[in-house]
Amino acid sequence: MLKVHNAVTTLLTNRIIFFLPFLIVLSSCEKKETEQPQKQQQNQQAMQKLYPAFDGKQSFEYLLAQTNFGPRNPNSDGHRNCLLYLESELKKFSEKVTLQHFTQKGYDETLQLTNVFAQFNTAAPQRILLVAHWDTRPRAEEDANPETRNKPILGANDGASGVAVLLELARIFKNNPPPLGVDILFVDGEDYGHSQKDGRSDLDLYFLGAKHFSKTKSPEYTPRFGILLDMVGDRDLQIPLEQNSMRFAPQLMDMVWSTAEEVRATQFIRIPGESISDDHFALNEAGIPTIDIIDFQYPHWHTHQDTPDKCCSESLEAVGKVLSALIYTKLAQ
Ligand SMILES: [Zn+2]
Repeated sequence: MLKVHNAVTTLLTNRIIFFLPFLIVLSSCEKKETEQPQKQQQNQQAMQKLYPAFDGKQSFEYLLAQTNFGPRNPNSDGHRNCLLYLESELKKFSEKVTLQHFTQKGYDETLQLTNVFAQFNTAAPQRILLVAHWDTRPRAEEDANPETRNKPILGANDGASGVAVLLELARIFKNNPPPLGVDILFVDGEDYGHSQKDGRSDLDLYFLGAKHFSKTKSPEYTPRFGILLDMVGDRDLQIPLEQNSMRFAPQLMDMVWSTAEEVRATQFIRIPGESISDDHFALNEAGIPTIDIIDFQYPHWHTHQDTPDKCCSESLEAVGKVLSALIYTKLAQ
């Protein structure tokens, strides 16, 4: 979910909707690269040697692995099976994986929820936190077909994409120990509550995992900052400056967008985006300055069309490459 306060007029134009047969999943965006001057190309090549390459195709495989479980809304089979998968994948890459189980009263059910927390370079005193929600929405209130609006969505972009980027980073951390401590947190129950579209907005039933993590974290756990990824797989990815993040941690926003410019991740654009309510609120309230990397301009949001064919490996790779460059170059000093 993501609730928009005071939507700022976005300058996003030329958006293309790709109509593809449902079952054919093309992982490539086929985006045209603009020509770079030679000097710029050399700088970029020199920069690329400084951080491990992020494999967008592998990341897209992680996205498909999740959507293959079907919808992953709390208490569903897909949710249970995906949790086992996330745990076993992370255990391949990190020797310290913790499951944080908790329950929460839902509408007419008790939700069995779990945050997954994996740590890398555990001895390092200085740490950062990377976050994505792994649950998907139990309904599709934005869908054109009213008859299927109460059915759970597949959540390829809204759910699987952020996790897909972080799983590929986890694989990188195993082979290239990061220069500082990095923690990956997959939060549950982000997208459970009803929205205004349903005639009600139950904010208490959103961001459940992030709120639980923030409420129960040890006072000694004080990462330098947090970065939340949400809806980062869109084929037409354009990530503006989310306005609450600009309020919470403007310097971190500048560092991330500067890194994106250096590695030529042109999907990161320096224009004001919407103000989004997301998991970063709870983390900021708990004292961890956290930003949200999000492209909210996604026509398939909270519909049954949020499927893998609307996402692509290049978008995942752009976001992953920025994080890799940030961690291994900017944070190495
Ligand atoms: Zn959502």
